[in-house]
Amino acid sequence: MSSKDPSSQAANWPTWSTWSTWPTWLPLRAGLKSSTPYGAPQMSDVIALNTNENPHSLPDEVRDAMMDALANVASGLNRYPDRDALALRSALAKYINDRSETFFTADNIWAANGSNEILQTLFLAFGGSARTAIGFTPSYSVHPMIANITGTSWIVGSRDSEFAIDAAGAAAGIREVKPSLVFLTTPNNPSGTPTSISDIETIARAAGDVRALLVVDEAYAEFSDEESAVTLIKRYPQIVVSRTMSKAFAFAGVRVGYLVAHPSVVDAMLVTRLPYHLSALTQAAAQVAIAHADVMQAGLDEIKSERERVRAALTLAGLKPLPSAANFILFTGFDIPSHELWQRILDQGVLIRDIGLEGYLRVTIGTAAENDEFLAAIHARES
Ligand SMILES: *Cc1c(COP(=O)(O)O)cnc(C)c1O
Repeated sequence: MSSKDPSSQAANWPTWSTWSTWPTWLPLRAGLKSSTPYGAPQMSDVIALNTNENPHSLPDEVRDAMMDALANVASGLNRYPDRDALALRSALAKYINDRSETFFTADNIWAANGSNEILQTLFLAFGGSARTAIGFTPSYSVHPMIANITGTSWIVGSRDSEFAIDAAGAAAGIREVKPSLVFLTTPNNPSGTPTSISDIETIARAAGDVRALLVVDEAYAEFSDEESAVTLIKRYPQIVVSRTMSKAFAFAGVRVGYLVAHPSVVDAMLVTRLPYHLSALTQAAAQVAIAHADVMQAGLDEIKSERERVRAALTLAGLKPLPSAANFILFTGFDIPSHELWQRILDQGVLIRDIGLEGYLRVTIGTAAENDEFLAAIHARES
């Protein structure tokens, strides 16, 4: 390698992971100085059961249809995409209507690069300094992360020892705190706990009383037998349901999330979003995936039955897995530190998630073969 090779020069720059404090010349906002990048470990040559992905790759027929659609779009890539992603939003409305017997149109849907961008746009529109958001922890760590980035105060509401929400207590907390945003993840990540539709209604009423929006994060809805909160939107316009194609749809690599809400919420997204935020390639690929929703989700039943098999096996192995309505299981009942058990399982080639909740670890349900590898690592944990 010659000394003029730019990559050898670049290697001399200190990076985030090598300095422990920010340089003084950097005008970073005070609120970000103690932040660390979101970081589930990314490793190769391991069985990755740590980010709740769907283990099934794109079916051949969907891949072929997608290649055709992308080839069609490719010749027009000199032009900006449809800013409002109308065709995609109509397709998503139909997808929701077919499953929840609702009557939404594109006016009720907003789509973005993953539901994380949906959440960020909600915070930009309805959060910010002098505003407060509340969530019920342990839950999805990205909610407080985006609160911090957007300067929104974050209030921690609690869950009980089984990770369920006491709806009456939550409603009282909302009436007291008067936030502008309430976050409710169901089924909850990392616990897998669903919240019933009647509890969501109780919490929505409290949110409405203080003029807050209730954001129901349904990233795992398709794995659950509970009714979706989209069925409540007509009666409670303060409910915003956030969904993603990353989990049940097996489409994490494309980055498509969406929300279902009253059209006024969607209008607020239109004034907040970046122009042309969703690429023409993403819009085209997502439409093909939605047109093949049944094939894309053919593996759902298998994942649900594998979930119950893994849960029973964990119990047999002397551990305590929580009931889950999602594609992962949170388990406890081991007597070494979480990180040590996490490392022992990784040493066997299986990467699961230490979500920073001492005494617990989370495992994503993979294929039957991957789950067997995980269970073998669990059985080998003491040797
Ligand atoms: C995975 C996940 C998301 C984010 O998914 P995207 O890939 O950004 O669509 C949102 N909410 C919860 C609770 C999740 O677990």
